[in-house]
Amino acid sequence: MRGGKVAIVGGSIAGCAAALALRRGGAESVTVYERASGRLADRGVGLAMHNARYTELESAGLVDTSMPWHQVTRRRWYVRDDAAADGELGRELAVMPFPFRTYNWGPLWHELRGRVPEAADFRHGSAVEVVEVTPEGAEVHAAGRTDRYDVVVGADGYRSAVRAAVHPTVRPGYAGYLAWRGAYPSERLRDPELWPEDECVYVVFPGGHMVVYRIPDAVTGGHRVNWVLYTAPPPGLDQVLETPTTLHPGTAGAGLCDHLAYVAAELLPTYWGDLVRATTHDELFLQPLYDFTAPRYAVDRALLVGDAATVARPHTGAGAVKALQDATALQAALTSASTWAEALSSYDSDRAPTGRVMVDLGRQLGRGLVQRTPDWRALDQAGLEAWWQQADGTGAFGGRRIGRSTA
Ligand SMILES: Cc1cc2nc3c(=O)[nH]c(=O)nc-3n(C[C@H](O)[C@H](O)[C@H](O)COP(=O)(O)OP(=O)(O)OC[C@H]3O[C@@H](n4cnc5c(N)ncnc54)[C@H](O)[C@@H]3O)c2cc1C
Repeated sequence: MRGGKVAIVGGSIAGCAAALALRRGGAESVTVYERASGRLADRGVGLAMHNARYTELESAGLVDTSMPWHQVTRRRWYVRDDAAADGELGRELAVMPFPFRTYNWGPLWHELRGRVPEAADFRHGSAVEVVEVTPEGAEVHAAGRTDRYDVVVGADGYRSAVRAAVHPTVRPGYAGYLAWRGAYPSERLRDPELWPEDECVYVVFPGGHMVVYRIPDAVTGGHRVNWVLYTAPPPGLDQVLETPTTLHPGTAGAGLCDHLAYVAAELLPTYWGDLVRATTHDELFLQPLYDFTAPRYAVDRALLVGDAATVARPHTGAGAVKALQDATALQAALTSASTWAEALSSYDSDRAPTGRVMVDLGRQLGRGLVQRTPDWRALDQAGLEAWWQQADGTGAFGGRRIGRSTA
């Protein structure tokens, strides 16, 4: 397929990858509207990408080794067990293979942004107000002007204006718990040798867990410690967080900070509690957990990619992978179709099932790891392996293989 004037709303991970895919897939012109005027690369912390998914995305030409990464190989599970008088790391429950590359969100975005072809018109500081979609095309209203396109791509995240135009009733649903997050230079870490560099750690406790891994530090060339702790806030404190929004670094209120301090002191083993406490208030941020999936990834001349289409809870370990895979699938659909209608329909049937699988997996893992946690202390290596196998169900943790839904 060749030709066509396409607008992409959103220039983050999914938007940059979609711009690449559209140019490679033959679109004649691509305009990217990105609300943020500054460098998105200055924000963000860590994310992980399964090795097998990386290999597929590398073959698809979306990622490569120029993007700074850190290799993790194992996942070690710890629980606090005061009665067992374990060391400061806590009692080790199990160790499992964990073949993931970890990334610092900013440099990953920066590399993807650098790959957006020169020919694409990338408009920073351009917020789209409204999108209108018809079977023949789309109108994009931004900065007091209206532009007409053959197709509009919604890469505008969980509060997508494009999704609102085609699925007005689909809204993110609050999961009932939060993620407290932080990242800081690993030089601040006490006794770093206690925690091997290639290990991701899951620290589990009644009603939640914390995931910790190192990510590359683009400034020093060393590492940063990246942690995220999931649990429900005390009653009353989550009311302000029911609408999906991030509490940016430095804005968390005293009640939420106090609760984190309580979890760190009373529920985490000393080493991991200290790791959380080494985070300054200006580095701490919070995200309420929510999820949804659009029933269709393409409607008339609009299509959705990344978080605009589906947000699965981050326990799935596949948010960025899913966004990049969407772009790969879009390119494949464009290459094999001869009309926009065919391309959009093929893209929809490829990606919508994956969105549903990932949302279901996120809910299942959320139940097991946060909402209805088992008696962790009663589990050993074999018990935890069996528990994980059941929680992961379809084996989609880390993302499904590209093209699986159409295979
Ligand atoms: C600054 C930033 C930092 C992030 N950091 C992390 C991280 O550290 N770890 C992690 O796992 N995930 C992070 N994420 C989320 C992660 O990028 C996504 O979950 C996932 O990769 C899918 O990306 P996406 O491009 O679909 O959505 P998003 O990354 O949410 O991007 C949506 C983009 O659309 C733009 N946009 C929204 N509405 C409009 C509009 N009306 N007009 C124009 N532009 C609009 C936004 O400014 C944003 O750039 C971050 C996102 C952002 C924007």
